[in-house]
Amino acid sequence: MRVNVLGNTGIKVTELCLGALPMGPLQKNMPLQDCIRVVETALIRGITFIDTAQMYQTYAPIRKALKTTGIRPVIASKSTAPDYEGMEKAIEEALEQLDVHYVDIFLLHAARMGTEVFDARAGAIECMKDYKAKGIIRAMGISTHDVKVARLAATRQDMDIVFPIINKAGTGIINGNIEDMKKAIMDNHAAGKGVYLMKVLAGGNLINDYMASVDFARDIGGCHSIAIGMVSPQEVNFNVDYFSGNYDPGKTPTVKGYSKRYKIFTNLCKGCKACIAVCPNYAIEFDEENKKAYINDEKCLTCGYCNPACGEFAIRTI
Ligand code: SF4
Ligand code: SF4
Repeated sequence: MRVNVLGNTGIKVTELCLGALPMGPLQKNMPLQDCIRVVETALIRGITFIDTAQMYQTYAPIRKALKTTGIRPVIASKSTAPDYEGMEKAIEEALEQLDVHYVDIFLLHAARMGTEVFDARAGAIECMKDYKAKGIIRAMGISTHDVKVARLAATRQDMDIVFPIINKAGTGIINGNIEDMKKAIMDNHAAGKGVYLMKVLAGGNLINDYMASVDFARDIGGCHSIAIGMVSPQEVNFNVDYFSGNYDPGKTPTVKGYSKRYKIFTNLCKGCKACIAVCPNYAIEFDEENKKAYINDEKCLTCGYCNPACGEFAIRTI
């Protein structure tokens, strides 16, 4: 599999990155042992890059797989913490729960926040700088759905890594279109930033158009790696074969998308709107007449971020 260097960080990663969101409680909520097997398979098959987050709650299977395989991949995590103390807690939590002495990459988990993110989270950025100076994180950056944020990150010295959303449907991109995001990626590349891509399958919505979607992402100039969420050893094998150029339609079993849709059960919804505030793609709308929230399936990225925001457990996968 192709190995690239994440810009000026010097960190080497495989072109394929294991996305650890879908196996965890926000999405498929797989048993721990099944999650461990997915991570183990990825490591044994040569994937050297794992993307996770404080919010994903998938540190435990990663820790276990590191132990059982003896393989230490590059790990990226991220936090929505707005201030110094919150980010410090997030980094310490990652160190402890992953049982590692350093985390390679730590990001501001910013999904839908606009360019105000850099001021609003100045304390969190300071914390990341301090931990980087101590060698406890090797690189810092931001995950974003917003073209303007990606563009601004290219101009900031403190941002080593950018993790933007892009896919051939343009789903989830804020403040611009596919071409705008491609240009922002090139700006980051030219500025020496490490760039890896998220949601190239649009949260699973493009899984049945896998090859065209992945080829689209691989052809984007300036990107070093692509995070793809995987939920079974078969999916890992398929992705590794595809990225290694060993995909053989006659031999490699096809991976079909598992059915995943988020729905708000209106009988449980109390109309508090908490879910609306966290949805990265503004996919949750509000029925003012009945005072209930509902999900617009055409906009939903199936990320699961809304699920823990609902104290009424009204948001479920179906
Ligand atoms: S957070 Fe839950 S209760 Fe509140 S509006 Fe959303 S679905 Fe309804
Ligand atoms: S409604 Fe929004 S937060 Fe919930 S799964 Fe869809 S995109 Fe994610």
